[in-house]
Amino acid sequence: MDTEYLKTYAQSADDNTLAHGLPLTEQQKQLIAMVDEVGPTWSQRAFKHDRDASFPIDNWNDLRRMGFLGLCVPQRLGGMGADYRTYMLVASRIGYYCGSTANTFNMHNANALWTADMVDQLDLNEDQRASHELNRQHHYTKMLAGQIYAQPFSEGSSAAAGKAPFGTLARKVDGGWVLTGRKIFASLSGSANYYGVLCTEDLPNASMRHTLFVAVPATAPGLSIEGDWDPLGMRGTVSRTLILKDVFVDDLAPMMPPGIYAQAASRYPHMFMTLTPTYMGIAQAAFDFAVAYLRADVPGVGVKRRMYPTKQIAIAQMYVKLQQAWSLFHRTTSEYRCDPSRSERMRALACQHTVMETSAEICSDAVKVCGGQAMLKTYPLERMFRDSRCGALMLPWTTEICLDRLGQGLLYQAGESD
Ligand SMILES: Cc1cc2nc3c(=O)[nH]c(=O)nc-3n(C[C@H](O)[C@H](O)[C@H](O)COP(=O)(O)OP(=O)(O)OC[C@H]3O[C@@H](n4cnc5c(N)ncnc54)[C@H](O)[C@@H]3O)c2cc1C
Repeated sequence: MDTEYLKTYAQSADDNTLAHGLPLTEQQKQLIAMVDEVGPTWSQRAFKHDRDASFPIDNWNDLRRMGFLGLCVPQRLGGMGADYRTYMLVASRIGYYCGSTANTFNMHNANALWTADMVDQLDLNEDQRASHELNRQHHYTKMLAGQIYAQPFSEGSSAAAGKAPFGTLARKVDGGWVLTGRKIFASLSGSANYYGVLCTEDLPNASMRHTLFVAVPATAPGLSIEGDWDPLGMRGTVSRTLILKDVFVDDLAPMMPPGIYAQAASRYPHMFMTLTPTYMGIAQAAFDFAVAYLRADVPGVGVKRRMYPTKQIAIAQMYVKLQQAWSLFHRTTSEYRCDPSRSERMRALACQHTVMETSAEICSDAVKVCGGQAMLKTYPLERMFRDSRCGALMLPWTTEICLDRLGQGLLYQAGESD
């Protein structure tokens, strides 16, 4: 399908669809404009990557050329220095054009975002700060040289939900660490140059406090990828299983000093929200498609359907849901900080839940309002419908876990129990 119509629809960023009427910085405008330039081509390529369940390497070559592999690398270390909110805005624009590209870009980018200013605000001793500076410079240099970082945490246990230590173990040896374990749903498998793995230090009585965040080179002996990848949606993420068998990594591999990940996870809850923009982008894209389809602005659609009151009401209802989700998204992405208040924490969980569920609802509504011809594979809508359903499943903040945590957090103050 010709995706050129997106040029006019996406440009409605001028009336602040994306920023929801909030002012954008010059840097944010520039970065979004860069995405808009390549976006329609990514939407075009998405048909093939979805059909073949293949990684959108061509889109990643664009991202590399645009300098986006260093998007959240601090400027003083050679990157673009995008902050949390800038990342969230830019990523929602990427998701607007291609869900799998945004979902995988999140994995790469989180490796930079989580190790930059965020760690600087945490409690580290002098030695930890010095070793962190050395290690992150090492990894940022690789990112800036175009190397791709993945982030496989999930193991199929309660660990990725934040309820148990990771089963993947890291044993300290002279000059480095030896890792053994298994990671499921490793997005970018086979395409990443490094896998940012969460594991547990192999110590007697090790707990979640001993979580270690380590970047493992794809070429390390003992690392292999196995299993099929033929899922419902987000097919371009190619999230196969990663096996680590006595994999040696040197002392530059840790992305955070031992013990610091647990501190980050408890003091920076917004770090777990970085997949929301992918799904906000998909929701906006499904809405825009529905409007374009009913107006017969989508190439190949010869009949206008906008004059029927049922369509008008359905579009109005979709718009209301979309605005509710954007509102919460913008509010919450502006509240990112170390040690947020209780209500900011609760709002972040509510935002993740709202975005992931609303995205799936809007895509489902769009299929209904556009009708049978619109769900043919000629059009992007059925892919958005499938992709959007995956947002609710993302650990540690699946939509179910968000509700669990909200219910508990709202009914109990810190330190209370029954
Ligand atoms: C397209 C896609 C790409 C992905 N990419 C990555 C990636 O790059 N890296 C990565 O680490 N993971 C990735 N994931 C994995 C994702 O984060 C989950 O780990 C995966 O979907 C979990 O599947 P599961 O069947 O093992 O879930 P389970 O752990 O069995 O959970 C099933 C459901 O039960 C609920 N649940 C689980 N544990 C608890 C608990 N303790 N308390 C309350 N409720 C609970 C949750 O709602 C969850 O959705 C990806 C997933 C998808 C769909």
